[in-house]
Amino acid sequence: LSQITETFSESVIREMTRICDEVGGYNLSQGFPDFESPKAIQEAAIRNIRAGFNQYPVTFGEPELREAISRKVAQYNHIQCDPKTDITVTCGATEAMIATLKALINPGDEIIIFEPFYENYGPDSILSGATPRYVTLYGPDWHYSSTELAAAFNKKTKAIIINTPNNPTGKVFSKRELEEISGLCIKWDTYVVADEIYEHILYDCAEHISIASLPDMAARTVTINSISKTYSVTGWRVGWAIAAPTITQRIRKVHDFFTVGAPTPFQHAAAEAMTFDPGYYEGLKNHYGEARDFILEALREAGFQCEYPQGAYYVLADASAIMMRLGLTDDTAFSRKLIELTGVATVPGSSFYADKVKGNRQVRFCFCKKWETLKSVAQALTTRI
Ligand code: GLN
Repeated sequence: LSQITETFSESVIREMTRICDEVGGYNLSQGFPDFESPKAIQEAAIRNIRAGFNQYPVTFGEPELREAISRKVAQYNHIQCDPKTDITVTCGATEAMIATLKALINPGDEIIIFEPFYENYGPDSILSGATPRYVTLYGPDWHYSSTELAAAFNKKTKAIIINTPNNPTGKVFSKRELEEISGLCIKWDTYVVADEIYEHILYDCAEHISIASLPDMAARTVTINSISKTYSVTGWRVGWAIAAPTITQRIRKVHDFFTVGAPTPFQHAAAEAMTFDPGYYEGLKNHYGEARDFILEALREAGFQCEYPQGAYYVLADASAIMMRLGLTDDTAFSRKLIELTGVATVPGSSFYADKVKGNRQVRFCFCKKWETLKSVAQALTTRI
């Protein structure tokens, strides 16, 4: 068997979902909603299946969807792109990321990843042959050190991955930070891979800025997104990568050999979802904003130390005090104990770090859940630990 995949451990996020399902717990581990996706998008999918969109799509994406993406990013992200040459539709942002890295990386190249990071980026780097270099995001406000960031760039740096709004920290990268990153990318002639899947999930005054919209950045940025989080359809597996034509040509080839195409009827439904009026996104944001405030209060009352995330739908909470009380010394043991005591499934913090010790006092809660779930979770956390 392959020596490369031998180093992989199973995704802890997906494993926790399985464990949670086995015990019938509250799944605050994997980031997906437990409420219905919008009726209009469900009906669009059914209508498109009945209309006969059941065979292979155009490998790099149905034209209707690429056109819809291009219009939406012009309106919301200040990104100008040509649907004919600059967009590849993939099986979720997950495939967009690995196909992009495969398209960019040569053996020996380095990629910069902010840590804590979304679990997949580690194996993605290894599969693409890159060596990851990690730059720490320091809590509680998840800032990075400019000196450490500048020191991570060198002649081997091929790309930097920016995930904003960020999973698992909820950090929303500011304009100043994105400008600083852009300056370094121009100086060292590196690409940016921007995973913007939580772009509409923002709190308080946080503003999402696409790094591709900054001066001189469009040509060196691959912007990744999907319909999963924005339209609450994580099982449909429709995502995309936007990049300059020369990069897109490579991504399209990798994507074609990987998966041929993302599900055809869901691509057509996605194109329709993109015509939702701005009120839809406001509604999503408002629901998650209330859910965030509610869960934060419950977590603090239960003894976790955590700050309000600025975006996305996760809280990376410090559990040191409770762990000490329970006599536990690592995050995995704590996560298991938490399910046992409260029925609440979380993701152990170490899953988001290359250096596992750094996350071993943290657990991630995902709060994209309906009120009924959130209320039961709050009740369990505040009374059963
Ligand atoms: N992004 C989600 C999370 O971090 C899950 C994505 C997935 O499991 N593919 O929980």
